[in-house]
Amino acid sequence: ETLDEGLEKTKTSVFSKIGRAIMGKSTVDDEVLDNLEDVLITSDVGVDTTLKIIKRIEERVAKDKYTSTSELRGILRSEIAQLLSESGTKDGESFDLPHSDKPYVIMVVGVNGVGKTTTIGKLAHQFKAQGKKVILGAADTFRAAAIEQLEIWGERVGVPVVKQQMGSDPASVAFDTVSKAVAEKADVVIIDTAGRLHNKVGLMNELSKIKRVMQKVVDDVPQEILLVLDGSTGQNAYEQAKQFSKATEVNALAVTKLDGTAKGGVVIGISDQFKIPVKYIGLGEGIDDLQIFRKQEFVNSLFG
Ligand code: GDP
Repeated sequence: ETLDEGLEKTKTSVFSKIGRAIMGKSTVDDEVLDNLEDVLITSDVGVDTTLKIIKRIEERVAKDKYTSTSELRGILRSEIAQLLSESGTKDGESFDLPHSDKPYVIMVVGVNGVGKTTTIGKLAHQFKAQGKKVILGAADTFRAAAIEQLEIWGERVGVPVVKQQMGSDPASVAFDTVSKAVAEKADVVIIDTAGRLHNKVGLMNELSKIKRVMQKVVDDVPQEILLVLDGSTGQNAYEQAKQFSKATEVNALAVTKLDGTAKGGVVIGISDQFKIPVKYIGLGEGIDDLQIFRKQEFVNSLFG
């Protein structure tokens, strides 16, 4: 799906809410701004980010003296775009990877069901399309289904999956995967992990053990710790981002399932509130439905 298509539900919902917020009003006044605040909060932009946006619009309206409600959508778009450009995180660039003589290792974390396996499959597909040699590691050894799902994706994309039996040590799977990558001069390793957030200390220990053991094979891996968040869960996604970034050094985010939801505003709040860049967005279940996140493109698509 294209970005416009993927964001259709959020867009329709936001537009109809804005329509209601300005109904019967020709000028942007305090009541319209209050309504707009509700629109943003109920669109999962998050309270903190909403308040920042409303403040910016208030200032702009105060300066302009008279602002027609017909301009509101455009103003909203430009203020959100400006806010995000000041947020300090970078856009995702492309599926190109830095040149290196060692494998680029991505450790993928997130709670079950958010779209981890699917995102791994889509990423593998993109890297393979760039001519890269990719190996997947099934280090979510907790659920048999997780290993099977990863294998299905491995076959679909045409990349090998390193696995052991269910219940084996995730760190051992990660070790095998990175070792195979080095031996076979692979370019990219993507490691799936189990996301049991209810046991934070357990999760922390498991992830740091996986890292430590991979570093026995290659220094300074993983280069990327990618947290996958389900965009359709709105506020839960914020909470998971907080919790996981406490448990490990997450340095990239993927927000999935933006196609099936009206909660796409969550990406705006996440980009504003976390110092970790959103690198990828998921816009469908298909192999090609993963896109690089670019803030301005996203805002334009949402409010265009
Ligand atoms: P995991 O448990 O985190 O590995 O989650 P899965 O990758 O198995 O995904 C859970 C469900 O979400 C599956 O049915 C996927 O097809 C679906 N899914 C994943 N990403 C997306 C997305 O971007 N859009 C939609 N609509 N569905 C998705």
